[in-house]
Amino acid sequence: MEEKNIEIITRMVLQSLQSSEEKKNGFLVPVGVSARHVHLTQEHVEELFGKGYQLTKKKELMGGQFAANEMVTIVGLKLRAIENVRVLGPVRKASQVEISATDAVKLGIKAPIRESGNVAGSAPIAIVGPKGALYLNEGCIVAQRHIHMSPADAMAAGVSDGQIVSVKADNERGTVFNHVKIRVDDSFTLEMHIDTDEANAAQIKTGETVMIMPS
Ligand SMILES: [Zn+2]
Repeated sequence: MEEKNIEIITRMVLQSLQSSEEKKNGFLVPVGVSARHVHLTQEHVEELFGKGYQLTKKKELMGGQFAANEMVTIVGLKLRAIENVRVLGPVRKASQVEISATDAVKLGIKAPIRESGNVAGSAPIAIVGPKGALYLNEGCIVAQRHIHMSPADAMAAGVSDGQIVSVKADNERGTVFNHVKIRVDDSFTLEMHIDTDEANAAQIKTGETVMIMPS
């Protein structure tokens, strides 16, 4: 009887040690590096690629999104351009251009850091396709870094939708990212999205892991 109690207590102590060890280590998240890209409305697809044109799929992404075969040129107000910018599908309700801070310097524009979809008052930009061009009064942003996860992942990580966390990359360079937004949805697979500037500065490649720091 006594022996059995000791066994139970030992197991409880081991479990509590294990969970505090896990808490110390944080929750691991694979990284996906997002290159500059464009989201378009169907109307804008047709302005750039021709009447009745439909985007074609090159590669599936999470949440039903895809990288399209189609590419465009983006042009800032000083007529500085970046060519071969990938279009992502499916079409959206509003067109949006996501660039890095370095791209913004290259284009000579001031693009604010925003969550995808929040384009009110963002930078103006022109988009040029093979069949036409269009001008957006607003719509060019630098994407706010964020982590996609399922409700089950959120529960395991102890975070909730909309929460802001800090994330640590424990590699040779060693970087802590603050102001990382948690985005929870059934269609999401676990991945932290950073842009090419952030990835290069921290020397992180797609598929490598970072960890959510315990708060
Ligand atoms: Zn994302």
